[in-house]
Amino acid sequence: MKKYVYTFFNNAAEGSSEMNNLLGGKGANLAEMTNLKIPVPPGFTITTEACVYFMKHGKYPPGLIKQTNKAIHEIELFMKQKFGDNHNPLLFSIRSGARQSMPGMMETVLNVGLNSESVIGLQKQTKNSNFAYDSYRRLIMMYADVVMEKGDSTIKNLNIRVQLEKILEKIKQKNKYLLDNELNQSNLIEICNLFKKKIEQKLSKPFPEQPKKQLWNSIEAVFKSWNGKRAINYRKIENIPNNWGTAVNVQCMVFGNKGNHSATGVVFTRNPSTGENVFFGEWLMNAQGEDVVAGIRTPFPIYANTQNDLKIKLPKIYKELNGVQKRLEKHYKEMQDIEFTIEEDKLWILQTRAGKRSGTATIKIALDMLKEKILSKKNMLNKINSHHINEVLLPTIDYSLHKKLQPIAVGLAAGPGAATGRVVFCPDEAEQQYKKGHNVILVREETSPEDIHGMFAARAILTSRGGITSHAALVARGWGKCCVVGCKEVEINYQKEYFKTKKLIIRKNDWITLNGSNGRVYNQKIKLIQPKIKKNKLFNELLNISQSISQLKVRTNADNPKDAKTALELGATGIGLCRTEHMFFKPNRIKEMRKMILANNSKERKQAIANLLPFQKNDFYQILKTMNNLPVTIRLLDPPLHEFLPNDPKQIQTIAKELKVPNKKIITTINKLHETNPMLGHRGCRLGITYPEITEMQTNAIIKAVIQLKKDGFNPQPEIMIPLVGSLGEFLHQKNIISNLTKKYKIKIPIGTMIELPRTCLIADQIAKHADFFSFGTNDLTQTTWGFSRDDIGSFTPKYLNEKIIKNDPFHVLDQDGVGELIHIAINKARKIKPAIKIGICGEHGGDPESIEFLFKAGVSYLSCSPFRVPIAYLKSAQLSI
Ligand code: ADP
Ligand code: MG
Ligand code: MG
Repeated sequence: MKKYVYTFFNNAAEGSSEMNNLLGGKGANLAEMTNLKIPVPPGFTITTEACVYFMKHGKYPPGLIKQTNKAIHEIELFMKQKFGDNHNPLLFSIRSGARQSMPGMMETVLNVGLNSESVIGLQKQTKNSNFAYDSYRRLIMMYADVVMEKGDSTIKNLNIRVQLEKILEKIKQKNKYLLDNELNQSNLIEICNLFKKKIEQKLSKPFPEQPKKQLWNSIEAVFKSWNGKRAINYRKIENIPNNWGTAVNVQCMVFGNKGNHSATGVVFTRNPSTGENVFFGEWLMNAQGEDVVAGIRTPFPIYANTQNDLKIKLPKIYKELNGVQKRLEKHYKEMQDIEFTIEEDKLWILQTRAGKRSGTATIKIALDMLKEKILSKKNMLNKINSHHINEVLLPTIDYSLHKKLQPIAVGLAAGPGAATGRVVFCPDEAEQQYKKGHNVILVREETSPEDIHGMFAARAILTSRGGITSHAALVARGWGKCCVVGCKEVEINYQKEYFKTKKLIIRKNDWITLNGSNGRVYNQKIKLIQPKIKKNKLFNELLNISQSISQLKVRTNADNPKDAKTALELGATGIGLCRTEHMFFKPNRIKEMRKMILANNSKERKQAIANLLPFQKNDFYQILKTMNNLPVTIRLLDPPLHEFLPNDPKQIQTIAKELKVPNKKIITTINKLHETNPMLGHRGCRLGITYPEITEMQTNAIIKAVIQLKKDGFNPQPEIMIPLVGSLGEFLHQKNIISNLTKKYKIKIPIGTMIELPRTCLIADQIAKHADFFSFGTNDLTQTTWGFSRDDIGSFTPKYLNEKIIKNDPFHVLDQDGVGELIHIAINKARKIKPAIKIGICGEHGGDPESIEFLFKAGVSYLSCSPFRVPIAYLKSAQLSI
């Protein structure tokens, strides 16, 4: 018969911390602590498998009752008490405990086994006059709430707990008490009686007096709490599978409510907000269960140099607890969150688990534990992930507030960090408010390239539609901007300028706060904690270790000195993709660009292009200067030309006037440039081939910047990258133009290409013969491999992902089977011809940990990603290298 029950008592447990999946986190650790001879009240764990069986079949698995009775009997013998006895009753707590901690999501019932007779027996055993009835009234309330109401699906919205709390309040008021622990025995007896009456009246059945019935109904209620509404929602957000089930821990009660030498509390082995290595926590004298967390009375610190510290009040216990917390942390090699109870000067440990903590605390604790030789370098690195780094780099919500905040909606976490601001719905308005110095959050159904200015001006972006690779998400991530997308609960009314969630209406100019790291939306202004990169010792320590271990170099995608500087602070060791088209969009330049496009002949075109040269030279000068000594891969002009011309008739008119050409001419040109599939059209090196003047001008600008920089005492390291090459002929054509010029000025600049077409992967050997480097443009390569248009996939990918037709959005997580295979082919072919050829990757995937793992193994030489992803890429690469 299958074993469903695992005991822990008398310094020996049948389970251990390795049996986390079967016993749940709480049960596994209770077993582990028992084996470590830490004082844990005796008990046993009913496995998650029993819960899974119960959920499937609606009844207990065969053997469960027998095994449970046997365990109870063993514990009774050990405790010299009897469950259900009237004179010497053994009481149990019935506690949930899933594989992964779901704090506060499921149920616990304390003091199970008490009834109107055993409460008298219990009372007689102690001198403390209140404790027995105090325990009894707690049992009645918890049982009514957890078992009789929540455990019964036919009862809805009764909220018996609130009704019983009202009774308690009334009695307190009548006696002019402020706190629960002022209640005396006769008050407590009265409360128990009133509770039972109310329960019978509201639930049409009595509170059960039979201990066995209490026990099994409580176990069943814990099983059922796995499918409670709160638990289901929590699992959805945290991505916890629904079929895991919860374990049930049945454990002897110890009593923190036995007077002034009894207490209950929660401690952390280190500070969970800052990570500081100080013993940290709170305790409450003469209390039970969740009193500490529930805020019924204000708990006191464990140790903070006040007269109410545990250290001062109960010094011996403090010393013992301090010893236990040190042992537990050392044993688990992890910061612990520990629950304890003191019963008449005896310490009991009720729970230990890895402590939840902020990103900053995670990094600090990992680095400290490395110094303390608790963790190896490898284990230290593995404790940290991208979310922790994001938290250090971006503004975050004050961690101490987390528990008290209630989100009004939850969307997809698209751009990390937190932001707070006033709601606006229109991009122009966002820009205007920004110019006045206001913080705004742009709220849209979805965004498009026309909204860019407003998105830029906004502190954060919230969209009600779109996925993790929607326009808003991509743009926000590139900027390191906070963004929540696909927030379906948000219904926007643009006309009346408000949005609605299930319960609330938020109007223009109301404050909201977004947490882009977990997708939550709050309807208030929340204090944020601002990061300081340069002075952040922790961050720099981690970055230095990551860099010293990483086998890959990490560069950044940046096309202006400001971004380049940020990236340098964040650890970038070069630029892997410097796009040049953005340089043409500034007002005085776009004019020349348009002249170039509208030119009637080569002479006119050359003139317009010549006018662009000084601008470009200066751009390159600045960016190469910022990145002195480090490589900068400059990509030649890439986008289709129509992107430089407007669509709006009004704007066409303005331009016509400005450039002194007839309206009609512009319209004709626009029509001429119109393409059915612009992404597959006249762009990339195809532009440089049809307009060689552009390639010439850009090369000249780079050369002139280099000459000037050298004169000024700098060491520029440019590389020229030809975009969208699909054939050897294209590459040679462009390379020829570039190298003619570099030869003329006797300057050596590596020339390479971006690999973003399947064909290029297949002929990588041919091109490698002539190229100095490759860089995979995985955005376009994904687009061209799948035949998916990145801008249009929003209409079908949600269904694809929902129905698991594809596992991931390939623009988000690199498609290893298809795109990855092409990358393998290209690398192998290229390395056969030129073993030392430098091969990089630029594009969104360069900063995605899962994709990095693949690329690392495929053998790329460097990564390039947006500035804020650089430290994450270094961390991931270090984790893979060690
Ligand atoms: P959660 O998973 O929500 O933390 P627990 O199962 O830890 O729930 O129970 C909540 C609280 O109940 C504990 O923090 C502790 O104070 C109290 N408790 C649980 N078991 C016992 C016990 N055996 N004796 C005394 N108090 C207990
Ligand atoms: Mg607990
Ligand atoms: Mg491209």
